[in-house]
Amino acid sequence: MSYLKDIYRSMSSMLSGMQLTGHYFMNFRKAETEQYPDNRLTLKMSPRFKGELTLLHNVQNMHKCTGCSACQLACPNGSITILEKRELTEDGKNKKRLQTFVWQHSMCTFCSLCVDSCPTGALKMEQRFEFTVADRKTLTKTLNKEGSQLAPDLR
Ligand code: SF4
Ligand code: SF4
Repeated sequence: MSYLKDIYRSMSSMLSGMQLTGHYFMNFRKAETEQYPDNRLTLKMSPRFKGELTLLHNVQNMHKCTGCSACQLACPNGSITILEKRELTEDGKNKKRLQTFVWQHSMCTFCSLCVDSCPTGALKMEQRFEFTVADRKTLTKTLNKEGSQLAPDLR
């Protein structure tokens, strides 16, 4: 009896699958599938998709990273290393500044805890996603751009 029930369930499952396939076959203009990579230029990822951690810079090459290390502490697997330096401000104070923001792309689990923990909103998860490389060392990235500086309102 159980053998017959199994056959019935398999047939019923197969028929539902075929019904769905038939539906898309008859209504091919409404198909949900993406013609990737042919649609690269028009492809829109889901708003919640996370592809690459980015340190935001404005047009004057300024960022909002104070080098506080909160993102490094929040990261559960050590994908972020904040290297800092000391800088004398105009009023003679010795302040901590970001020297290099190192992100290990190959280790990141895209949990976004670093973005959420940043007190100045300096980080963002961008939606780029094609990162296949031949040498995994290139997945160790410096996120602060060359010559970039801390935004004046955060100094
Ligand atoms: S990105 Fe944000 S949390 Fe990370 S060091 Fe810079 S200011 Fe701190
Ligand atoms: S997204 Fe998560 S794993 Fe990736 S760097 Fe940020 S905190 Fe670390």
